[in-house]
Amino acid sequence: MSKSQMNIGILGLGLIGGSLGFDLREQGHHIIGVSRQESTCEQAVTQGSVDEASTDMSQLKSAEVIFICTPLGLIVPILEQLIAYLPPTTIVTDVGSVKTPVVKHATSIWNNFIGGHPMAGTAESGIAAAKRKLFTNNPYVLTPVDTTANDAIKILENLAYQLGANIHYCSPEVHDKAVSWISHLPVMVSASLLSACMNENDDKVVQLAQKLASSGFRDTSRVGGGNPELGVMMAKYNRQELLTSLKQYCYNLDRLIESIDREDWESLEQELNLTQQIRPRFTV
Ligand code: NAP
Repeated sequence: MSKSQMNIGILGLGLIGGSLGFDLREQGHHIIGVSRQESTCEQAVTQGSVDEASTDMSQLKSAEVIFICTPLGLIVPILEQLIAYLPPTTIVTDVGSVKTPVVKHATSIWNNFIGGHPMAGTAESGIAAAKRKLFTNNPYVLTPVDTTANDAIKILENLAYQLGANIHYCSPEVHDKAVSWISHLPVMVSASLLSACMNENDDKVVQLAQKLASSGFRDTSRVGGGNPELGVMMAKYNRQELLTSLKQYCYNLDRLIESIDREDWESLEQELNLTQQIRPRFTV
């Protein structure tokens, strides 16, 4: 193995863990997978996400870098168990969608921990949903804190670069505020859009609406139709920030309702002109 090729551990072989495995393996790294279910481990090896896989965490003792890719609520409990097997030089990172509670606890028990969040996904979950090039051209956020070793930052940055991702640095707190607006709020808005549509009383109307739903509805409902566990975890671990965003969203929605109720087409047009101008700032 050449110097730049590493032993990399992935703990939690699902959509994100399996996809990371595909692309890091492609770069020549040796990937050791660990997951809860034996059948998941077998599938991960068969489909080529990892070189070897096991349900036994101690297999990760030879890994130089470990990505914890389990559901959010398990990241810290799993790290607590994992560190019993690791030399102090092992760099551990996670991929969780919320950073503050994870990073606070994880850095207090493992010096060589650096929080991360590859911002890419699909509506699917589990190892069968893993995809090649999932992270290419998408943001990868790293959230080092004052005590994070420079070497750990450099190594993680290099791996994210090898995935073809666009790397961003910020504090865990700023990360959680930002993703509340552009990721966690949209999940809740999109979910409530889907459930609101089911409140139509006339079955014939609902059925026709389902047939007519096209690209606009696909775009606006996509994130509300994703993995429910992920949505609950975002709300549970980023509760304060999400509540702030949701309250602001309700205020803006109420203003639209008022304009329409008052038949104040001028205000409505002003608002929609503004949102038309704003959108490219978030999407380009
Ligand atoms: P996922 O597809 O459900 O994968 C999670 C995997 O963790 C499961 O396949 C499961 O494997 C494994 N697992 C569960 N409990 C375990 C345990 N006790 N020990 C070892 N493995 C365990 O979920 P995901 O979408 O990849 O999300 C994983 C993480 O990525 C989350 O923290 C999430 O916040 C973050 N994330 C998700 C997205 C997204 O859009 N999906 C984007 C960015 C970041 P078994 O089959 O073996 O049970």
